[in-house]
Amino acid sequence: MKAEEVKIVVIVGAGTMGAGIAGEFARAGCDVRLVDKSGELLDRGMKLLRMAQETLVEEGLLSRRDARAALKRVSLLPRMADACAGTQLLLETVTEDLKVKESVFAEADLLCPKRAIFASNTSGLSITKIAAATRRPSRVAGMHFVNPPHVVPLVEVIKGERTSPAVARLLMDLARRLGKRPILVKQDVPGFVLNRLQFAVMREALHILAEGIASAEDIDLAMTAGPGLRYALMGPLRTADLGGLDVFHKISKYLFPELNSKGTPSPLLADLVKKGKLGAKTGAGFYKYPPSELKQILRRRDRILLKFLETLKRDNA
Ligand code: NAD
Repeated sequence: MKAEEVKIVVIVGAGTMGAGIAGEFARAGCDVRLVDKSGELLDRGMKLLRMAQETLVEEGLLSRRDARAALKRVSLLPRMADACAGTQLLLETVTEDLKVKESVFAEADLLCPKRAIFASNTSGLSITKIAAATRRPSRVAGMHFVNPPHVVPLVEVIKGERTSPAVARLLMDLARRLGKRPILVKQDVPGFVLNRLQFAVMREALHILAEGIASAEDIDLAMTAGPGLRYALMGPLRTADLGGLDVFHKISKYLFPELNSKGTPSPLLADLVKKGKLGAKTGAGFYKYPPSELKQILRRRDRILLKFLETLKRDNA
């Protein structure tokens, strides 16, 4: 099967990621069957999906007609048994829990055609273990989209120990068909590439905050007004090339021993979670998020990122 032949896609889990990714496949012309545990959860997913298309329309990146056509290609189904007939690709976007994912894949394996490809949007769980819940491990891979999926171009395609090279290639091509920028993760390591990089930064940011070296606002500004801007254009390795590898080597020698290398989550993070301060979804985390402002905060994030991406695209054209 070639990427352009993929027409019928099942997405299991209609949450933040599943709903957003459903829109990406629907806009590329696929018929998407979105599955979740209840009609209520599916309605919430459809609302998220509509909001994402609306953002793209408001930014002039999608016509109303195309948005309507894409929404029509999405059907909502509370039972996987009703969704799997004839499917070519099943993408799992359920809760980040190995047992839940294994049971979804084991059930899908019994319901879907033998040739269907299975992909997991896990942020970093073992693709090899997930694949072992099926009788088709060579046809199972990771396909990790980034939040918000209607905005961020990166998709990680992860090879499990038994994923066939052809399946990994097809998912890379499929990501390109959706207008994404895929990377191939050649080894099934926890956190893949994106989250290894992201959590290395997160661990040090929490350490700096816990040690009282700078405030939360200043730590964030140190990234957004500094390397964060540059990273959209060139990654850490090219950045080092341009800065001079001898300089980076010298700094590494005295700095690496100082960086946080603890193998456990920061007590600061654990404490916030214990207090129910989970971030935007509970109204507070490191910052406060009044419910009346949340929609605007997310909208602003998407608007600015989309504008920035358009500028980058024009510059590369
Ligand atoms: P979410 O909690 O918003 O959505 C998960 C959905 O899965 C829920 O609607 C839930 O009802 C549904 N679900 C759970 N078990 C199910 C089952 N057995 N059958 C059908 N539906 C079921 O979670 P999310 O943030 O969308 O994350 C989904 C996956 O994507 C996770 O693996 C997560 O690690 C990964 N991911 C999340 C982000 C992010 O920023 N949120 C980014 C990248 C990857």
